[in-house]
Amino acid sequence: MAATSGSRRVVIVGGGFAGLFAARRLGRAPVQVTLIDRAEHHLFQPLPYQCATGILSEGKIATSLRELLRKHDNVEFVLAEVTGIDAAGRTVTARRPLGKEIEFGYDYLVLAAGVRQSYFGHDEYAAVAPGMKSIEDALKIWRRVFRAFELAESATDPAERKRWLTFALVGAGPTGVELAGQLRELATKTLPHRLPQPPRRHPELVARLRPRHPPRTHLYRP
Ligand SMILES: Cc1cc2nc3c(=O)[nH]c(=O)nc-3n(C[C@H](O)[C@H](O)[C@H](O)COP(=O)(O)OP(=O)(O)OC[C@H]3O[C@@H](n4cnc5c(N)ncnc54)[C@H](O)[C@@H]3O)c2cc1C
Repeated sequence: MAATSGSRRVVIVGGGFAGLFAARRLGRAPVQVTLIDRAEHHLFQPLPYQCATGILSEGKIATSLRELLRKHDNVEFVLAEVTGIDAAGRTVTARRPLGKEIEFGYDYLVLAAGVRQSYFGHDEYAAVAPGMKSIEDALKIWRRVFRAFELAESATDPAERKRWLTFALVGAGPTGVELAGQLRELATKTLPHRLPQPPRRHPELVARLRPRHPPRTHLYRP
């Protein structure tokens, strides 16, 4: 149903699972919806680790938000980063890609901006251990992983080779566990076909659990 003039304005911040599904559901309601995201795509958040290990290309884990919303006439998409909210004045401020500030009035606001990685008080780790919340993050890790295997390949000193083939994963949630599995697949199945001196041993995978969380099984149901 298309929105009529004078209908209520809903602003949704974020086009992840939460924002996208809210927009789609409201796409059948008599309201005017504006979905704002700093990326032009919806990222399928469970899969960046596959991009980081070269299993899937970025196009396979991200889809244009415009494409996903095209059937809903009352939903408009705006590419911008939300920088402020004035709850009393019911306005959202956002910055367009070239820096222009824009403002949106709303009757209802849906905040679905997701989360960012936490370094538990050690933000200095970010420089050496990027998070995995965006395609850029995943590609950064992909470059580092493949560079490490290539440098191990050309290393003549066994100790140096071992260093390049040692991966430390901190965090044994879904991302850490999946990434560990994919690194092992890379070393034992994918790369032996490509490298003249394949990594014979699995990369050393060190999964560290934060001490106050005892090891446990994660069960995810989509
Ligand atoms: C490896 C892995 C496996 C998983 N498996 C499952 C599973 O099997 N089942 C399940 O239910 N869940 C699973 N999850 C969890 C699920 O992926 C997340 O809960 C979900 O993606 C969170 O969605 P969201 O919309 O809250 O946030 P996000 O997907 O992070 O979306 C947030 C959006 O907001 C945008 N944004 C952020 N800040 C701004 C800003 N200032 N201005 C504009 N836009 C902004 C971002 O660009 C992004 O598009 C898994 C997660 C991982 C990592």
